[in-house]
Amino acid sequence: MNQSTLAGAVRFDGVGLHTGAPASVEIQPAAVDFGVQFVLGETLVAAHADNVVDTSRATVLGDGRKRLSTVEHVLSALFGMEVTNARVVVDGEEIPVVDGSAQAFADAFAAVGVVSQPAPAWQLELAEPFEVRDDGSALVLLPSDALRIRFVADFPQPIGLQYLDVRVDAQSYRGCIAPARTFGYLHEVEALRARGLALGGTLENALVFSPSGPMQELRWPDEVVRHKVLDLLGDIALLGPRLRCEIIAIKSGHALHVRAMRELRARYVRDAGGALQALGARTNE
Ligand SMILES: [Zn+2]
Repeated sequence: MNQSTLAGAVRFDGVGLHTGAPASVEIQPAAVDFGVQFVLGETLVAAHADNVVDTSRATVLGDGRKRLSTVEHVLSALFGMEVTNARVVVDGEEIPVVDGSAQAFADAFAAVGVVSQPAPAWQLELAEPFEVRDDGSALVLLPSDALRIRFVADFPQPIGLQYLDVRVDAQSYRGCIAPARTFGYLHEVEALRARGLALGGTLENALVFSPSGPMQELRWPDEVVRHKVLDLLGDIALLGPRLRCEIIAIKSGHALHVRAMRELRARYVRDAGGALQALGARTNE
């Protein structure tokens, strides 16, 4: 697989899910070895797990002075659509929520076109299993030459237990994962708002479950676990090199995913003169 970028820029204007404030983002083509970097005014923040400053509700990147919230859906779309180099220029403190899924991003990338660049993509292919665990959740990575995800989600009723097994490529991403919306419970909305979160949340940009069931029509009966896979892909994009392995995710979330990417980066990835070097594992094969 070669590195790739967009054939042109795409722009989204909207509001932030958590801040409720106006937000816009323009995703622009970038040169070989640029990777994915967010442009916040004068500041460039690379999409790396080392730059994550908060995972309590969304994935937040920062450099100590500037913060950018809810990066996971646009990162998921870039990863899922196999775009390895992009300049993501942001106006605001959060990526616009659009409809709560990654569909608009994925469709826009497909419409403008993804172009191959004359350099091999940095990939990390594990030589041995790797796992992280936390109270009742686990993320297990197994050596494989293709990216396959098996995700077990288990949420209180009315969501319950959901399972998805998917081989991830641009086609399966766009068809089976990108349209799945972010979700929450009606009773949580008040609590989130008291913490200053979900201020931009509406029934147009989040799937809300009341005790009797979903308040909107579901896009799939298992839309929740599909969104969990969408979020996981946004988080594994924070490794830097593309991760190629089998992933078994059990009730995992942003915090555990980011911890895993940090540990893998510490073990295998170094930034040297702007180019990524992977240490101790097979890359670019
Ligand atoms: Zn999400």
